[in-house]
Amino acid sequence: MKQQYRNEKPLATPVQYVKGVGPVLADKLSKMGILTVGDLLAVTPTRYLDRRKILAISELAAGKDRTIVGEIVKSGVSFMGRRRKRIYEIIIDDGTGKVSAKFFHFKQKYYEEKFKIGQKFLLSGDVSAFLNKAQFIHPEVEMLGIDAENSVIGKIVPVYPLTEGLYQKTMRKIIRNAWDKFNQDIKPIFSEEFAEKYNLSDPWSCLQEMHFPSSDLDPELLTIGRSQAHRTLIFDEFFFLELGLALRRKNHKIKPGISFPRNDEIYNYFLKSLPFELTDAQKRVVGEIFEDMDAPRPMNRLLQGDVGSGKTVVALIAATRAIAAGYQATIMAPTEILAEQHFDTINKFARSLNFEFGILTSSIKGADRNKILSDLKNGEMKLIVGTHALIQDGVEFQKLGFVTVDEQHRFGVLQRAAIREKGQPSADEPGWPDILIMTATPIPRTLAMTLYGDLDVSVIDELPKGRKPIITRLYEEHNRKKLYDGMYHELKSGRQAYVVYPLIEESEKVDLKNATSMSKEIAGVFEPEFKVALLHGRMSGEDKERIMDLFKSGEIDILVATSVVEVGVDVPNASVMVIEHAERFGLSQLHQLRGRVGRSEYQSFCILMADYRRTEESRTRLGVMVETTDGFKIAEEDLSLRGPGDFLGTRQSGLPPFRIANLARDVGILGQARKAAFQLIEDDPKLAHPSHRRVKEVLVGRWEGRLNLADIS
Ligand code: ADP
Ligand code: MG
Repeated sequence: MKQQYRNEKPLATPVQYVKGVGPVLADKLSKMGILTVGDLLAVTPTRYLDRRKILAISELAAGKDRTIVGEIVKSGVSFMGRRRKRIYEIIIDDGTGKVSAKFFHFKQKYYEEKFKIGQKFLLSGDVSAFLNKAQFIHPEVEMLGIDAENSVIGKIVPVYPLTEGLYQKTMRKIIRNAWDKFNQDIKPIFSEEFAEKYNLSDPWSCLQEMHFPSSDLDPELLTIGRSQAHRTLIFDEFFFLELGLALRRKNHKIKPGISFPRNDEIYNYFLKSLPFELTDAQKRVVGEIFEDMDAPRPMNRLLQGDVGSGKTVVALIAATRAIAAGYQATIMAPTEILAEQHFDTINKFARSLNFEFGILTSSIKGADRNKILSDLKNGEMKLIVGTHALIQDGVEFQKLGFVTVDEQHRFGVLQRAAIREKGQPSADEPGWPDILIMTATPIPRTLAMTLYGDLDVSVIDELPKGRKPIITRLYEEHNRKKLYDGMYHELKSGRQAYVVYPLIEESEKVDLKNATSMSKEIAGVFEPEFKVALLHGRMSGEDKERIMDLFKSGEIDILVATSVVEVGVDVPNASVMVIEHAERFGLSQLHQLRGRVGRSEYQSFCILMADYRRTEESRTRLGVMVETTDGFKIAEEDLSLRGPGDFLGTRQSGLPPFRIANLARDVGILGQARKAAFQLIEDDPKLAHPSHRRVKEVLVGRWEGRLNLADIS
């Protein structure tokens, strides 16, 4: 999603053309993603300072957000308290009295330069009482020039995000200059009727309010992003995202797809060959997928289900139906280990169906690879699992009808499109393949709406019968003996264990016990009675595979691994997951790791080994893990702890970086914007009505080539 206003002429003028912006500054701005005048005007203040009321120093009492103006009468290093802590202190006089301001963190030379005696300053911040006298600790300071031009007195003042070497004052000045020159180019986007219906202000007054708030506004509302201007800009940002998604969805639905005939004989045969019965949730989801497969439209369905809920079998059932109808199918996984895993599942469950299947990863080379490629092209190979190797050039299918993408957020929207292209319609088959996207990362509803807003959603919300909730414990180093005793007990009863580390090599700076040396320690404790092996990311694909095979077959009892085991590994006999330095892992990663156990009727355990020196945030994270095994709850917590950007990794997820909207905070507005957008596409699918001309223009600009716009132009 492009930044607001970037492509909206003449706001697309490069930022260098703003008065006061030279090449050096332009370079700094570009680091913040600010390339055009529009980008600059769309910069959102992180907060606002209330400088409407300047107090006389004589009236100053302890309290929040106080502002004074005066002259420096003393400036220099001094010492405070019994410990004689070095601080920097300035004393300001405004004619009614004096007040001290103290700084604990300072660069002496720089401060002496800045705080010259006689210089006029504005100070604002919280005031505390010290020995009955008011004082500022680390106030915001602003040097006041001789001319009133840059004066910020008597106003609500925005505070902008900055980058190194860019100052608040500069930012305020160039935004002012950009505004003065270009504000008349900011045109309304929505019709009056629409704006009224959704309670939106026009963009001009929104930006004015953002950058130059009138002094009768509540600065607190501005800071927390709840002013009318914020509301409108947030709505605008969500609206164009959702509009694009609505359009995409519409386009999927009108494309030709494949109607796969049902084949109950094969379906029932397959069900019977499974060593278990499908859960009700699995049956329901198969039903939903089958309905999509009936219809002559391409399926675009997201399958959400917690780790271990049995998504793979569901995907396999659907793929089998496509294969029975004469098509090819593929399952794309994010890692080689996971691809192997799927390959094993197929081997186990689908062998009896007698069709050719294979695996393609980047470690498969030479003659093997050529054979696979030719079998795919001539259609002999019916089902192929693999990694991103599947979307490379040279991989051609004869008739690809069904695509499963596992753990999709690791691939991102673009790869999703790339694998779809492999099934491009031909004269022989004019339909587009069906796509099933599986994710084990439970995604909060809000994120799902934006990330997957163009998809239909199925959820497996039930674990296979007989699974016992995993018992999770938080241990510290002094519990290590207890940990080993517990592991011993499980191993002795025939179970297996994982021990996971965050890093592979000892770094001198961080005193981390790494997987290599710890696998030695663990071997020292448990061998020769039990076999210990190490698995890490720098091993060759072949070595990883060999070790995974030995672990699966039970020849290895304890697998010491870096986080490569995170995704998808399925060894039902494993009942212990030990996570070393658990405080270093994010919540969803911890949840994924824990999901490697508890995959059978055995009681399983997850032991979080954590440093007692952990941060407040990691304390919260670990607390959540101990408290619940509910993936959706964990996802919500994770979202609120980390914010949506980090939640899925913005880059990979294809999640647009929001400029002003905040998914965790603005759920309500998102819902409204989504409804409005989908309604608009419903009413006017091609945005052809004259009153939607601006909306269409803006949409095209924001999505910049990422929409198939043939359908609206
Ligand atoms: P997911 O991909 O959702 O994490 P998997 O498909 O890997 O889960 O399934 C986890 C394990 O549960 C596998 O060993 C699978 O064979 C098994 N399984 C799947 N469905 C069922 C079921 N209905 N009953 C019992 N076991 C099941
Ligand atoms: Mg899986």
